[in-house]
Amino acid sequence: MRYLIGRVHEIALKGRNRWRFVEQLKSNLRAVMSDLGVGKCIAQGATLEVELPEEVSDEAISERAALVFGMQNFSIARAASAQLESITRAALEMVEGINAASFAVRASRSDKRLPFTSMEVEREVGAAVKARLNCAVNLTNPQLAVVIEIATDRAYVSLGKRPGAGGLPVGISGQGLVLLSGGIDSPVAAYRMMRRGLRLSFVHFHSYPLLSRASWEKACELAELLARYQSRAALILVPFADAQRQIVARVERPLRVVLYRRLMMRIAGRLAPKLRATALVTGESLGQVASQTLDNMAIIGEAAPIPVLRPLVGMDKNEIVQQARELGTFEISILPDQDCCTLFVPRNPETHARPSQVDAAESRLDLARMVEEACTRAERVDFTFPAPLIRSPG
Ligand code: ATP
Ligand code: MG
Repeated sequence: MRYLIGRVHEIALKGRNRWRFVEQLKSNLRAVMSDLGVGKCIAQGATLEVELPEEVSDEAISERAALVFGMQNFSIARAASAQLESITRAALEMVEGINAASFAVRASRSDKRLPFTSMEVEREVGAAVKARLNCAVNLTNPQLAVVIEIATDRAYVSLGKRPGAGGLPVGISGQGLVLLSGGIDSPVAAYRMMRRGLRLSFVHFHSYPLLSRASWEKACELAELLARYQSRAALILVPFADAQRQIVARVERPLRVVLYRRLMMRIAGRLAPKLRATALVTGESLGQVASQTLDNMAIIGEAAPIPVLRPLVGMDKNEIVQQARELGTFEISILPDQDCCTLFVPRNPETHARPSQVDAAESRLDLARMVEEACTRAERVDFTFPAPLIRSPG
């Protein structure tokens, strides 16, 4: 039988949340592999063991396992009984069909009462693998490592550990709503919060039909990509053009960006309870653009009825770009679009908006109605991963 062996960071398992952590991780793991026909999933201490079907490749399993936050590393292993012949057989099955110039066998036992030493296992299995693959032994820098972990009554044979996604299982820290623009920053902010255990929904403000649908499509693509880390996600698409028209008619140019952003906070705050989100998440980073000075961030944040999390606040742009590339969102984010916030705003917007100015400007608007209308006209798209199988009728 083949297993996925997932390992949790010991530190994460300390304290009273241990049980919740493992249960959440199990359920997330099952969800991300729901179409692969995996079997039982059991937890033992800091290790999770999932039965794998024979017909699914190691690569396909690894790709999915790497999406699950909360796992420090994982391996794909064959189980054997704690006997030399059985271990050797499992090792030969594991290396079947592999082409390597050199290899090493590394064995460890947790039970010192076993009738053989780790060295003996390495020698015996090493000889069998060498005969089968016809390749050289290299103990310091092998191309292929056969790893054998032996417990009292069972042994696992794998080709080594792969790094997991780390962090905390999605859902363990509660739920949040991300303000997802089509830009580079907000998808990275979303990734970082999911990795801290927050389950996310997304909201995107678009100015269609005043502007093209490009940002709408980008938001869909980004949400779909990010949904893979939590198996499902909702994206709320909010029409923003009417509200912008009203702001443009009544508010002087330099203040408009701040007012757009405050309105976004209010609308997102109104949508949050339905999505069970108790915090908003943005991709703001201190000093990056005019709207992200400390003064403006404070005044924009004040309009939000629930806490605003800004996971990128202390990051440099190049660090954010690097993460976006690794995440695969960068290529989507740089596609040309028309950002709603550049609409009717000057090249030099207000960088230090004062509360009195903002209050005076907002008193000329019917904010309650603007929020209400935007929420009523918002559309919802749901993404699931893996995509549900579509069965043809009959
Ligand atoms: P990003 O790359 O995420 O767009 P940015 O550097 O362009 O960020 P701003 O345009 O000032 O910065 O936006 C700051 C944050 O406000 C964004 O990270 C995002 O969370 C939110 N935001 C901006 N525009 C929108 C939008 N159209 N829809 C949803 N959220 C938005
Ligand atoms: Mg932007």
